[in-house]
Amino acid sequence: MEPNGILIYGQLTENYTIEPVVLELLTKSRELKQKLWNQRVMTCIIGPRINYDEIIKTLGEYVSDEVIVVCDDRLKNYDKEYYSYIFTEIAKKNPSRVILIGATNQGKEIAPYTAAELETGLTADCTNLDISDNNLLLSTRPTFGGQLTADILCSTFPQMATVRANVFKSEKQWITPNVTFDWFDIDKIPKKIEIIEINKKAKSFNNIENAEILVSGGIGACHDNGFALIHELAYKLKAKVSGTRGAFEKAYISKSQQVGQTGKTVAPKLYLAFGISGANQHLAGINNKSKIIAVNNDKNAPVFKYADIAIIGDLFDIIPKLIDEIDKEEEYEQ
Ligand SMILES: Cc1cc2nc3c(=O)[nH]c(=O)nc-3n(C[C@H](O)[C@H](O)[C@H](O)COP(=O)(O)OP(=O)(O)OC[C@H]3O[C@@H](n4cnc5c(N)ncnc54)[C@H](O)[C@@H]3O)c2cc1C
Repeated sequence: MEPNGILIYGQLTENYTIEPVVLELLTKSRELKQKLWNQRVMTCIIGPRINYDEIIKTLGEYVSDEVIVVCDDRLKNYDKEYYSYIFTEIAKKNPSRVILIGATNQGKEIAPYTAAELETGLTADCTNLDISDNNLLLSTRPTFGGQLTADILCSTFPQMATVRANVFKSEKQWITPNVTFDWFDIDKIPKKIEIIEINKKAKSFNNIENAEILVSGGIGACHDNGFALIHELAYKLKAKVSGTRGAFEKAYISKSQQVGQTGKTVAPKLYLAFGISGANQHLAGINNKSKIIAVNNDKNAPVFKYADIAIIGDLFDIIPKLIDEIDKEEEYEQ
């Protein structure tokens, strides 16, 4: 079969909805497929035996021409070996020009397995995609510590990329997809790892990727009660707390709260940056549609070049003032 179209890994959330990055990839694929003779876009979903109507409807809203569902109750929880094997077999059965996978923890495990099995290249952690003049996937990713971006063309097929969440917007249109259910004999999938028990970490607190407001701290906040103030302000604003790699290295935040090239990519409506210098590697993790308010006591801090509102001052003075203003506003409303 001739390679045709774009295959997307349709990662599900723990609650069996579609991961937002899949909808972002589908939206971007509408633009890519126009440059690929309008070839089909397929999404492959792997999960337990549940009703997939809502999921398929959502994928139709974001214009997946075809949806391939593989379901079995032994696929209830993500299992690296089962999921990687099944997705790769689906890719073999449906040879496509391009394979796109979200650069999530799952995606980062599945993509290299699939690339190795299909004997093709993989561009990881992309921040943009296009189709080149000679119809190859043009994958853009940060390089040299985020100082530069590299446009990468791979000459082997299928052309594979993992893409960070929040770098593309997701926009609805509407089609009714063709749906195929596929079946695998799970017992025959080669396995080296046996999952004995799954202990899930409470993660809602640290989940910064879908936050509307982020209150973020850098090294400038990493002493005295800097981060306590940041947490208090975040609480008042119903926001989440994030920070720089410096703040992570000083153990004021967890790795899952780090924004940037080696952390998370975020797209809040409002990003409040306290004591953050504005290194490229940090800013690479903030969607360019987010409004940034930066507070820094150095008027030459690079972050000010990117801030929508720049406040030159000491965060230890400014945060308590902001908290007071919010308290006054709340009293006034009561
Ligand atoms: C390969 C690579 C990958 C990287 N990945 C990431 C990444 O994913 N995320 C990331 O964040 N970094 C990353 N980094 C590190 C990055 O280069 C910077 O070193 C880091 O972002 C700086 O963190 P910072 O802004 O907290 O600290 P600093 O650069 O030290 O800035 C602290 C700022 O606080 C200000 N300040 C101090 N006191 C106060 C005060 N009282 N009130 C107000 N302002 C104050 C200072 O003026 C200064 O501008 C990476 C680096 C490399 C080489």
